[in-house]
Amino acid sequence: MPDYLLTYPSNAAALAAFIADDPKLGPHFPLKGIWTGGEILLDDVRTLCAEVFRTEIVDWYNAHESGPLAIQCSHYPHYHVQSEIILIEILSRENIPCKPNELGRVVATPLYNFATPLIRYDMNDHAMVGEPCACERGLPVLTRVVGRSRNLFRFPDGTSLQPNFRTRTFAEHLKPRQWQVAQTGPLEIEVRLVASNAKIKMDTEGMTAYIQKLLRSDLTVKYRFMSEIPLSPGGKHEDYLCELTDTDDIESSP
Ligand SMILES: [Zn+2]
Repeated sequence: MPDYLLTYPSNAAALAAFIADDPKLGPHFPLKGIWTGGEILLDDVRTLCAEVFRTEIVDWYNAHESGPLAIQCSHYPHYHVQSEIILIEILSRENIPCKPNELGRVVATPLYNFATPLIRYDMNDHAMVGEPCACERGLPVLTRVVGRSRNLFRFPDGTSLQPNFRTRTFAEHLKPRQWQVAQTGPLEIEVRLVASNAKIKMDTEGMTAYIQKLLRSDLTVKYRFMSEIPLSPGGKHEDYLCELTDTDDIESSP
């Protein structure tokens, strides 16, 4: 039995769900630690893993282009920018530095990448700036890293957000083996499902009501069943995917 798990958040969530559902394994499979990175870590995955593995996830934000950008604080679930090795700016659409609790683009300047220097490189990720941390490390704080632009849903009123559905809600309403939620139109959502058992009755009405309550009441929600959900070009599973084009934004602008 391993003591530590180092993996993507989606793998940790899948393992936790598998163990929790298997009566032979039982709901508890204690680990000494879980270290995740490479994908967006949702609060729901933290909760599920804490219940099943009896330990808290430690997450880090890293990228192939830049190396480590931020690592979770040892006392709080937010992230500390690794300022000793990288300069990170969180910028608004107008390229103004974001204030605490504002979401902006991550622009990075690694300080030790002498072979292929990157200067103010747009990571195409978004993160939320946090208040200074009580741990007194003094490093800048990111409260959330919400991933690539393609993972944010964008609506006609100009708002954009990182959806954060509860995995348990999917389990209660749809019982899928795997799922993905895509924004396919300005006000259209497609829920993609790999069914776990063809005989299970799915409550798509209940799921639609949940999505409309969580995101917007004027959304159309469609369901598509698939044999498997394709991975991203980088080989990762993406829970949320925005498939709007720039033209969609222009056409939907007031
Ligand atoms: Zn801290």
